[in-house]
Amino acid sequence: MPPITGRTYLAIPGPSVIPDRVLNAMHRVSPNIYEGEIIGMTETIFTRLKQLAGTRHHAAIYIANGHGGWEAALTNMFSRGDRALGVTTGVFGMGWASAAQRMGVAVELLDFGRQAADPERIAAALKADTDKAIRYVLVTHVDTASSVKNDIAAIRRAMDSVGHPALLAVDAIASLGCDPLHMDDWGIDVLVGASQKGMMLPPGLALLWFSDKALARAGEADLATPYWSIGPRVRPDAYWQYFGGTPPTQHLYGLHEALTMIVEEEGLEALWARHGRLARSIWAAFDAWGADGSGIALNVRDPAARGHSVTAATFPNGGAGRLRAWLEQEAGVTLGIGLGMALPSEAAYGDYLRIGHMGHVNAHMVMGVLGTMEAGLTALTIPHGKGALEAAAKALSGAS
Ligand SMILES: *Cc1c(COP(=O)(O)O)cnc(C)c1O
Repeated sequence: MPPITGRTYLAIPGPSVIPDRVLNAMHRVSPNIYEGEIIGMTETIFTRLKQLAGTRHHAAIYIANGHGGWEAALTNMFSRGDRALGVTTGVFGMGWASAAQRMGVAVELLDFGRQAADPERIAAALKADTDKAIRYVLVTHVDTASSVKNDIAAIRRAMDSVGHPALLAVDAIASLGCDPLHMDDWGIDVLVGASQKGMMLPPGLALLWFSDKALARAGEADLATPYWSIGPRVRPDAYWQYFGGTPPTQHLYGLHEALTMIVEEEGLEALWARHGRLARSIWAAFDAWGADGSGIALNVRDPAARGHSVTAATFPNGGAGRLRAWLEQEAGVTLGIGLGMALPSEAAYGDYLRIGHMGHVNAHMVMGVLGTMEAGLTALTIPHGKGALEAAAKALSGAS
């Protein structure tokens, strides 16, 4: 049982903390869905969604979680028997590729384990496809399980360097609203997001963006069904077609408020800088904990290949499991489990955890998590290097 006093903090990589402003915007009677303010508000939402993704192309909203977003994208990308290149750097990349396989797409896997994808190997795989049958490259921007971040712009350049016509589809569910993302500049054709991570909303909305090229191909995709088909959603004749039926009313009010905070008030540059600063303070703490051979370590060695929204790490000898339990029971902080590192039935399962730092987070929340982790390490007598909180504070202050 977590403590009954004070606010508890769910510091996992989604669902994330929802701002009171967003909750309050959702707490209202249902609006008229035929006319009135929801119509104009929806137009504003789509305009801001495009600003958020850095695109002048098309945005769509589905009532679904991230897995639903994957399928919404896939149904509009492929016909049965089509070929794809699935680039995987963790459990989520693998999940999207396997969803495609189960839907009848012939996916060639290029698995980088828990390291960032090597664009050269993607280029080589496309070059080997001499009849140019691969229609899409699927890749995860930040894989929430490994916390690996892929260099999407470099992947696009590699694809172009071999003159292959494949389009690029990116799962940005964990990076949207956290890490810099530029759909058009980076040459992304299909982008998938979801509401419950950097977007600071409850789960329930899958967000999709399609380029003109991808939209044209969607017209030929025989996996598309009436509900999931993107065509009417981006070019509706009537308001209901944006959502294939009843709009997600209260979620739309929440999304409108969240986008106001993200795009209008904080601004994307400041928001990306904030996530970078908070992430670096967490990494600094881990560097200190991991000094003098404690075995505590981040999953991803290269800082450039680390997502700014989630951190996956190891505390050996079951330390992660014990620390998670202590934090929840004694401090009211819930950390994420390790995903894809070991099976729940294996002893090593207790060696891994993840911290979510996406969306509505600030310095005191991150220092609170790190401070309670430090207390837990001390209380449980888990060996750890000294000076983690000082290092985190220094990183937050911008001093190096
Ligand atoms: C969370 C997440 C998903 C899955 O989203 P659900 O809402 O849990 O279905 C997929 N991809 C990435 C990168 C994610 O972070």
